[in-house]
Amino acid sequence: MLGQQALAQQAGSAAGQSSYTPPAGAQTFQEHEVIFWGRGEDVSEQAAAEIAAERQTSSRTAGMQFRAQVSYQDSLSMETLTLKPIHPLQVVIQNEAVQVCYSAAYQLNRSRFQDNAVVAGHGGVGRVIEVGSAVKRVQVGDRVILSATPNCGLCGQCLRGNGDNCVVRLPALSSATMSDGTPVYLTAPVMGPAGHSEILIADEEWVVPVFTDLPADELSMLICAPAVGLGITTVKHPIEVGSDAVIYGLGPLGMGAVQGARIQGAEKIIGIDPISYRRELAMQMGATHVLDPNDYSESGLVDAVMALTPDEVADNGSYKRHYLGERQHGALYAIEATATSQYPHAPGVEMAPEDVNIFEQVYASVRPGGYVTSAGFPRGDVNSRLVAWSNKTISGGNFPGLNVLSDLPKFINLVERGMFDARAMIGRVYGPDQMREAMEGAMSREYLTTVIDFT
Ligand SMILES: [Zn+2]
Ligand SMILES: [Zn+2]
Repeated sequence: MLGQQALAQQAGSAAGQSSYTPPAGAQTFQEHEVIFWGRGEDVSEQAAAEIAAERQTSSRTAGMQFRAQVSYQDSLSMETLTLKPIHPLQVVIQNEAVQVCYSAAYQLNRSRFQDNAVVAGHGGVGRVIEVGSAVKRVQVGDRVILSATPNCGLCGQCLRGNGDNCVVRLPALSSATMSDGTPVYLTAPVMGPAGHSEILIADEEWVVPVFTDLPADELSMLICAPAVGLGITTVKHPIEVGSDAVIYGLGPLGMGAVQGARIQGAEKIIGIDPISYRRELAMQMGATHVLDPNDYSESGLVDAVMALTPDEVADNGSYKRHYLGERQHGALYAIEATATSQYPHAPGVEMAPEDVNIFEQVYASVRPGGYVTSAGFPRGDVNSRLVAWSNKTISGGNFPGLNVLSDLPKFINLVERGMFDARAMIGRVYGPDQMREAMEGAMSREYLTTVIDFT
């Protein structure tokens, strides 16, 4: 709410005059004004100056103060920030809610950007409060999801249907300052536009307009991980009705895949996870069987999956023969949704067995000709000769091939129709002053998901 109050106070500047003036005594950090992320090269002073000079001279939100969780040097702390004037390609969003993504786990343990202050988390659900002069996709007042990947619609990847590999990654322009004038970035490499903040700033390619009255915490389930699982099973490799799927890992991503498999009409949905409350939840979400990997040897787990997805055998009493129809040994689809444990589990939350080649288990659980989608960070790999013989399709996927502009509205429709149960995916909701607790609740796997609610 701080942001809204600040916006109201800024109403006088809404007519268009630039209101940004650095706080008294603030240092200037022009050399860090712009950073080209991920290319391993610093932008030249001249190019940085040119991009920074493109900031709008008038910006109604400039000077607005808001609270955000800032990762800076060795700290992760709540800070009151002041917005700078935006770039013509940027959108300013009043954040309603964000699901805390496991991708942000490292920010609890260390700062990756020692020299730069970066707001934590990524994505969000909110309402547009300002658009840059060159923005066409959204208008002030629109409700939006800030998605896990951009989609420009114009680059080669977007045109080929690989929107989640959209190449548009504009240089990061510092969007705010701390009270001492330190520039703060509201976007980061890989993570994209930050989410643990009352105000979100994104280039328009990351912004998806949505037209729905769904509660923000439910919509936040579609920002990243749950939508990845739903996308794998309904868009990337849509599960054929009546077929079998096995899902390794029942976190938010795997649980989204369980629901996607149910929506698609899978017959057997086998969920695998060491955490007992997640296995129980998976059964409520549509899994037909759940397995605890701690109950099996490495190969024994695959044997258990095979036993649940047997060859169909015709038996006339005098002899048996393999049925020549659909049913074969192994699942048609396997979804790998495991993750490394970068953060200790909460007390009582079970750990996965160590030293297991998870990717080989996933691969072996699928019948020849089947589909393996790897979405987590599995340990191990697969013998390449097996890959050649088996005619199995292995896919990855950043945000599994989704065209966020068309697929996220489709997913919202599934929530509105009660087919995708977003409410049941919400583990615990925290207020804006509990961002660290929200991160710890997610990273320790104490809850399936955690949400920061700003409304
Ligand atoms: Zn994420
Ligand atoms: Zn693109």
